[in-house]
Amino acid sequence: MIVVMKTDSSQNQLDHIINKLESANLGVHLSKGVQRTIIGVIGERKDKETMKMKIEAMNGVEKVVSILDSYKLVGKEFKPEKSVIDIGGVKIGGEEVVVMAGPCSVENEKQIVKTADAVKKAGAKILRGGAYKPRTSPYSFQGLGEEGLKLMALAKQKTGLKIVTELIDKEYLEIVCNYADIIQIGSRNMHNYSLLKALGNIDKPVLLKRGFASTIKEWLLAAEYVMKEGNHQVILCERGIRTFGEKTRNTLDLSSVPLIQELSHLPIVVDPSHGTGNWRLVSPMARAAVASGADGLMVEVHPQPEDALSDGQQSLTFDNFNKMMSEIVKIAEVLGKKVYSPGVAV
Ligand code: PEP
Ligand code: MN
Repeated sequence: MIVVMKTDSSQNQLDHIINKLESANLGVHLSKGVQRTIIGVIGERKDKETMKMKIEAMNGVEKVVSILDSYKLVGKEFKPEKSVIDIGGVKIGGEEVVVMAGPCSVENEKQIVKTADAVKKAGAKILRGGAYKPRTSPYSFQGLGEEGLKLMALAKQKTGLKIVTELIDKEYLEIVCNYADIIQIGSRNMHNYSLLKALGNIDKPVLLKRGFASTIKEWLLAAEYVMKEGNHQVILCERGIRTFGEKTRNTLDLSSVPLIQELSHLPIVVDPSHGTGNWRLVSPMARAAVASGADGLMVEVHPQPEDALSDGQQSLTFDNFNKMMSEIVKIAEVLGKKVYSPGVAV
């Protein structure tokens, strides 16, 4: 259930209700909005209805809402205002469409530093790059591991870009946390509930990619796993789902952007690279993603896509990335949003 406090309720009244709930062994998650405070109540009790009536009768309470579906924390009932995730000053979920760009995998110093430099100049705020890669084939390049993270840190130091990188196993949680500003959970791990729970106990934003065969509900519930443990800094990432189409790697489900925004307060970004698997389709789908209202983009960029150790076929060259950035600036403007692009006033 969710307890909606009156706009003029006092801290005392709030404390009183929290005490009541906690002494009934119920968990409490607070959402303090500009207008009002909402308490998300976690846990099950047999005497739910009695409890609801008791809370409803308490001072400062406007109403108590039973949540029928299971979106307790990701849902808008709990937090009507949009969540803005602040990554050291880079805000995802606000009026800026934030671009994350970089290679699929970190390969060597020259590659990552050159790419970081180029994407920064074009307006990206966050550098992507995999060090631990979840490859379909065990014979494919598996990533440089910690060496790759060190190279990302070097590129960050040189450019000031924030870093997003994937965590594939709990085993690497600490080490990835030491380097990453955002922890990426890949499509293959969206259903890895013990990993999601572990992320719920850290204080770092999580970029949760949609499972390639998951419904919107399963995806939101995966986010709920992270939030339930206490970490509310979740960014969703649409990266395409598997369908019968054979011309693209995945089918990029852009309807998920407005759908998620209707159901949840969490920001959503779109990855048109994995969503299509074809660099020729990346810019058009990036434009469409911005038009659909996405809060950001994640795009693969490589200095020489033809030589990339992974996903070269869907990686943009620096020139193509520059072009994409100048196009999305215009699309964002239509929606009253902004894309940071050096040389373009924001
Ligand atoms: C990636 O971003 O490099 C990646 C592996 O993506 P996904 O998990 O969406 O396949
Ligand atoms: Mn990739």
